[in-house]
Amino acid sequence: MNIEQRLLKSDEILKRIKTVKDTLGKDLIILGHFYQEDDIVECADFVGDSLQLAQIASKQRDARYIVFCAVSFMAEMARILCLPEQQVFHPAREALCPLAEMAAINEVERAWSILQKTEQKIIPIVYVNSRADLKAFCGKNNGLVCTSANAKKVMEYVFSQNAIPFFFPDENLGRNTAHSMGIKDEEMFLWDPQGQVSGEDLECIRARKVILWRGFCYVHTAFTVADVKAIREAYGKDINIVVHPECIPEVVELSDYVGSTSFIKNTVEKAPSGSQWAIGTELHFVNRIKRDNPDKYIVPLKDCVCREMAKMTGLKLLHILENLAEGRPSEGVTVDPEISKYARIALERMLEVS
Ligand code: SF4
Repeated sequence: MNIEQRLLKSDEILKRIKTVKDTLGKDLIILGHFYQEDDIVECADFVGDSLQLAQIASKQRDARYIVFCAVSFMAEMARILCLPEQQVFHPAREALCPLAEMAAINEVERAWSILQKTEQKIIPIVYVNSRADLKAFCGKNNGLVCTSANAKKVMEYVFSQNAIPFFFPDENLGRNTAHSMGIKDEEMFLWDPQGQVSGEDLECIRARKVILWRGFCYVHTAFTVADVKAIREAYGKDINIVVHPECIPEVVELSDYVGSTSFIKNTVEKAPSGSQWAIGTELHFVNRIKRDNPDKYIVPLKDCVCREMAKMTGLKLLHILENLAEGRPSEGVTVDPEISKYARIALERMLEVS
């Protein structure tokens, strides 16, 4: 990226992105996550949550180039689901989801070998916010991937196999999902990747219904009980509070609704005109819902921005696109073929269950 490019104004960037899109036509698909900034959303052909984007990526068979605007695990997921001849690009390769980094393959394999000693039937479930090698681990071990939109269906599937779900890396999504199925905290075991496991712990695991991993999203765990109470106090009983299931259970319990970003979007869109909403998820997304629903009163539960998602910029997108149009593509996203094969199995199992 040269100095001239760095000085470009955002309307000029958008104009040039549109020119490249016109030039490349059907060869190019741009996917953008709901948490992206407005400039990116405006340029994207499809905008959605992780589940929607995974479904779209797996169906775009005509596009030669897929450009994924989000954090790295999502671009990796697209690489796994696309055809080998398609090329996937991630314009902000440095944008890593901190939650996804909270479980490493060696830690999960260690946990798995200890859990086998319980002689229980255990099925691993990995949240989509994870590295590809963890998805591959699930593919190899009869497990599957889940997103916040289908975590309950995936957990129900594991129970239907008479197995115990081993859910990683987001503790809160696992716990909130289990709560929604009537499972109590004392029926869950929290696996601490840094901790030691005693014989007593193994006995304890044998008696539990769900095994969780100690991991969290710093954006969603920033919402507190005090925030919920402050909103109720400020706006009274008419305000509806809707939060994401990566929030802590205490916040979920005090809220009126809980669900994925697509659930939040649909719930607010379908709500009657004049209704009032406080939304507990990423701020760029909340601001967009507010703008798109001028007939409702909408506030963020608190201003919480995902710094990693914000590393994606229009300029970075333009750089990737102009390189493509000039016939000198930037480095694409790659995933080791063996990892890709098994990760795909776990993702496809998820898509079947969803
Ligand atoms: S909002 Fe949380 S889970 Fe989503 S990308 Fe950012 S840090 Fe990761």
